[in-house]
Formats: sequence, structure tokens, C-alpha cells
Amino acid sequence: MARVFSGIQPSGELHIGNYLGAIQNWVRLQHEHDCVFCVVDLHAITQPFEPDALAERTRQMAVGLLAVGIDPARAILFVQSHVPEHTELNWLLTTVTPLGELERQTQFKDKAQRQESVPAGLLNYPVLQAADVLLYKATLVPVGEDQLQHLELMREIARRWNARFGDLFPEPRAQLSTAKRVLGLDGQAKMSKSLGNTIGLFESPEAIWEKLRPAATDPARKTRKDPGDPDKCNVYTIHRGFSPPDTLTHVAQQCRTAGWGCLDCKRVLADSMVATLAPMRERAAALAADPARVDRTLAEGAARAGAVAGETMREARRRMGFLPAAGG
Ligand code: SF4
Repeated sequence: MARVFSGIQPSGELHIGNYLGAIQNWVRLQHEHDCVFCVVDLHAITQPFEPDALAERTRQMAVGLLAVGIDPARAILFVQSHVPEHTELNWLLTTVTPLGELERQTQFKDKAQRQESVPAGLLNYPVLQAADVLLYKATLVPVGEDQLQHLELMREIARRWNARFGDLFPEPRAQLSTAKRVLGLDGQAKMSKSLGNTIGLFESPEAIWEKLRPAATDPARKTRKDPGDPDKCNVYTIHRGFSPPDTLTHVAQQCRTAGWGCLDCKRVLADSMVATLAPMRERAAALAADPARVDRTLAEGAARAGAVAGETMREARRRMGFLPAAGG
């Protein structure tokens, strides 16, 4: 059984892009592997953020993860800043990380371009990611294509540290998502809350329909009589995440033969989404009404994560030659 590590930023409520792109897979993985899932608040502060909203968004993300089926009895779920070893290992790893590699990271270059003053934390983001994974000696990291470069750097950091101080960290490998990427409802950009092109996972059936109704479809379907290609339609990609196989077959056939209009198709999708999401929405509401319970679950997760992380750090400090604290 491999150990899996994966993190998600505390962006508040989950949307269907997060769910279909990553979290649905997490729920599956927890039944197959030893999983460590983390709300990465320390990563979130490398971009402009609101301190007053950070704690609530972190808790909201935890509520979302628990509501969709992350089971604390199966997987460790915790908040990154609750386990201080993440920042400690991050620092140790910066000392073996080549600056040139950090500067070459595409995500750094993209994000840095958009900021007037570039914080060093943004440059070191992939080192903190390496610390996240290596602390737990995780060997499998579910990633999208855009994270592959960071994963390669993570492996390089592990190799460099191991070469200098002795083999401690296994080199993690990527579990590349095979799911077709869901675009925003505009059919143009990645689904993202800041672009306003998402559907929140716990929205009401009415709100889901309001957002789905105008969503972009295959541009070939200019009129009701024009046949379409479901593989060119983002609505069909969302169907794939929510509708059962026989519905998918029916949708594809109706689309290709212009047997129905896009609005009919979206109606069926809305029904599939509501069927999947309604129980999650109920669980999310119950959890949100009991924040103390959520905080307790996160504290238990942090204690379990901290036990593993503490063990790794003791060994890392010893190999690097630090003087142990008396009684430590
Ligand atoms: S019928 Fe459905 S799959 Fe085909 S283009 Fe319209 S919305 Fe997309």
C-alpha cells in the first residue's frame, strides 16, 4: 500500500472543478492507499490574501472535504499550519535546492509576472510542497499536468538531500489525473472561483440550474437541428463526472443526431448533479452548524500527522548534525 500525499488550498467552498479534478479521486484513493490529505494554508499566503477570512476559509474547505466523503477513519486530514514540521523541513530543504531550478518553474514565472513585488515565499513554494510530501515519505502524489514540473523538482530535492545526508526520503512519483479537465462554464478558461465561472458543490438545485442553463456547449450546435460532438462540449465533460454510464450513452447519441437540444441535455445533467450533490449538501450543512466538531476532527488529524512528521524530522535533524535539545 503506497502512502499518498495531496493538498488543497483553503479557497472556501469547493466547486465542481475541484471535485471532478481532484477530490473525487481522493475519495477513491483513501480506499486503496494510506492517504494524507492537507488543507495547505501556508501555501495560500504566498498570494495576496485576507487574514480575516483565512481561518474561516480553511474550516470551510475542511467541511467540504468531509462532506464529499473524506473519512478521517481512513485518511489523515489536517491543516498544514497545525504541523510546524512543514515549515521546519521547508527551511532545511531550501539549503539543497538550486535557485536556478526555482526560478525556472513555469508557475513561479506566471504568478510573479502578475505581482508588483515578488515575495520570496512564491519562489520557495515548490520547496514547501517538497517538505509536505517528504515529511510523510509519501511515494504517490496525485497531480494535474500543471504540477508535473514541481513534482520533478521535488524528486530532485529528495535526491540532493539523500546524496548529502543519506537515504531518508523516497522519491515520490506522480499519479497523473486521467480525467478530462473541466473548463469553466464559459467553456474558455480553467474553472476558478475568481473568474466566476464555477458551480459551488453545495449550491441549491435552483442555483445549479441557473448557472448551468447558459453554460457554453459545442459551438457547432448553432441551432436545435445542428448535430454536435459531445467530445467538444464542456457540458458533456461535466456529465461524465455526474451521470451514470447509460445516461452518458444516451446523451452522446442524442447530441450526435440532434435528437434533442442543449437545454434538454443540461436538464438531465442538472438532475444527475442534484442526485449526487444533495446528500453532500446536507452533510456540509450539518458540519457547518457544528464547527467545534470540525475543529476537533482537524486537531485529531494534526496529531496523527504530527506523529509521523515528528519522527521524520528527528531523523532529518540527526543526519544533518544538529545538537539535540536537552531532554528532546
Ligand atoms: S447536446 Fe449536450 S453534449 Fe451536445 S453540445 Fe449540447 S450540451 Fe453539449
